[in-house]
Amino acid sequence: MRLILFGSPGVGKGTQAKIISKNLNIPHISTGDILRKAVKDQTELGKRAGELMAQGELVPDDLMIGMIKEVLTSDECKGGFILDGFPRTTIQAEALDRLFDQIGFDNAILVHITADEKEIIKRLNNRRACKECGNIFNLKEIEGLDTCPNCGAKNSFYLRNDDKEDVIKNRLDIFSSSTMPVLGYYVNKNRVIEVNGFDTIDNVNKKIVDSLKEKNLYY
Ligand code: AMP
Repeated sequence: MRLILFGSPGVGKGTQAKIISKNLNIPHISTGDILRKAVKDQTELGKRAGELMAQGELVPDDLMIGMIKEVLTSDECKGGFILDGFPRTTIQAEALDRLFDQIGFDNAILVHITADEKEIIKRLNNRRACKECGNIFNLKEIEGLDTCPNCGAKNSFYLRNDDKEDVIKNRLDIFSSSTMPVLGYYVNKNRVIEVNGFDTIDNVNKKIVDSLKEKNLYY
């Protein structure tokens, strides 16, 4: 399966991608996670991306397209993958289609997870990341904990720079202006499934899986 999880920052793409990835045993490719690791490791890509990410701006298309080409042509992606955070512009969507043609992959299906903006702002403000493994948690999930439930790191929770209130606003604006048009691109190609993300994690997952099964796309 080649799936794109699409939706506003904080809508739950990463959470859903992780569940589907585990159940189908296909890799979860999060461009945000790859970039955060590059920033941490101070690679060339990380040095160019860090400042833009901290301000909630998009990393330039040519860098992102180069990066995704490298990942999707690797052996681990041969049997399918779930993309989380890419494509974020129509230029990236067009490049992805060309890449699929070159590699001989079937068209990707885009799952649009929707949610109300007020709910999103609340969720982003209330989330914390682990600086070791990058896992995201809701404040309630980690209340009273001093070790990460995912990797066991001690005192590793932090509020991502781009989850701070003024940066959230910029990320949401950029989502509306630069990323939402990607949806139109896939709607025109009849490759969109829409799921309301304002529900429990399990219910959202069930809705995604049921919609994919209905189209014989869950494999
Ligand atoms: P995310 O974790 O998906 O919210 O991504 C965090 C940040 O990484 C974004 O706010 C952007 O600065 C950058 N980023 C991730 N994916 C992309 C992409 N496909 N195109 C441009 N910038 C990206």
